[in-house]
Amino acid sequence: MKYTRKEFIKTSALLGGGILFSGNYFSKKLNEDDNRFKLLREGFGVFNARGGSIGYYYGKDALVVIDTQFPETAKIFMDGLRTKTDRNIDLLFNTHHHGDHTSGNSYLKQFAKNIVANENCVKLQIKRNTKPGEEDKIVTADLTFTDAFNADIGKEKINAFHLNPAHTGGDSVIHFEEANIAHVGDLVFNKTYPYFNLDDEGSFRGWITYLEKLYAKFDNDTVFIFGHGPTNELLDVTGKKEDLILMRDYISSILDYTQNQIIAGKTEDEIAETKEISGVVSRTSYWPDALEKNLREAYKELKR
Ligand SMILES: [Zn+2]
Repeated sequence: MKYTRKEFIKTSALLGGGILFSGNYFSKKLNEDDNRFKLLREGFGVFNARGGSIGYYYGKDALVVIDTQFPETAKIFMDGLRTKTDRNIDLLFNTHHHGDHTSGNSYLKQFAKNIVANENCVKLQIKRNTKPGEEDKIVTADLTFTDAFNADIGKEKINAFHLNPAHTGGDSVIHFEEANIAHVGDLVFNKTYPYFNLDDEGSFRGWITYLEKLYAKFDNDTVFIFGHGPTNELLDVTGKKEDLILMRDYISSILDYTQNQIIAGKTEDEIAETKEISGVVSRTSYWPDALEKNLREAYKELKR
């Protein structure tokens, strides 16, 4: 293992103080000392700088990365990862097409053997993230799948799958079966209002179904990585299966509320003025009009 300068100084100080660690504890300590990287289980972690959380797995015969943020933060990520492993990326996944999850593909491509995504993710990247005539400039997955993609890498069995339109039309979950860690992309905005635009071919109704299927599939031991949390604090982008239900409940509340307002004869603009919905608590806003945007999209979906 190589050390960055900062880590080396810390290591020297600890050893100088006469404190001895087992190798296992020591490697965990190094990870946790870097405030952008957080170890989840041995060899598994999450990185966060700007945009959707990056998940990673590294071992003697494996390096797998999920999502890529932006080119400049993808570089920070890769530089940090290089203190842990020299291996190139065996598989690089995109959970969905949004720019804060895929723009760093252009930087990480040079280290990756393959980029993997649901086929709709690639279609939406081209349709939604590029201007006409500039389709060639974005880097998309070169291995795509419809329903599922499986791989055995290192000690891990990886199962990536897509169920139905939800946050977008091309959301995937990547599950490391041995470690029981699942990156669910933006299917969970943990304790914050989600970004949602029907033009991304998702569905609030489908989102509820997707989360319920995930709740049934996973168990109480599963560690989840979420695309976003209320702040960029790393602890806020990981959680347990109960957090899937909190997300489902929020989307149900938005749909039920909007449906009732439509029945009561309210217009889209009148519904969008709502400042509070009963039962919706503890959600922060990335944008001042986050709730309004969710209500307008719910209205459009219900009126379709
Ligand atoms: Zn997203």
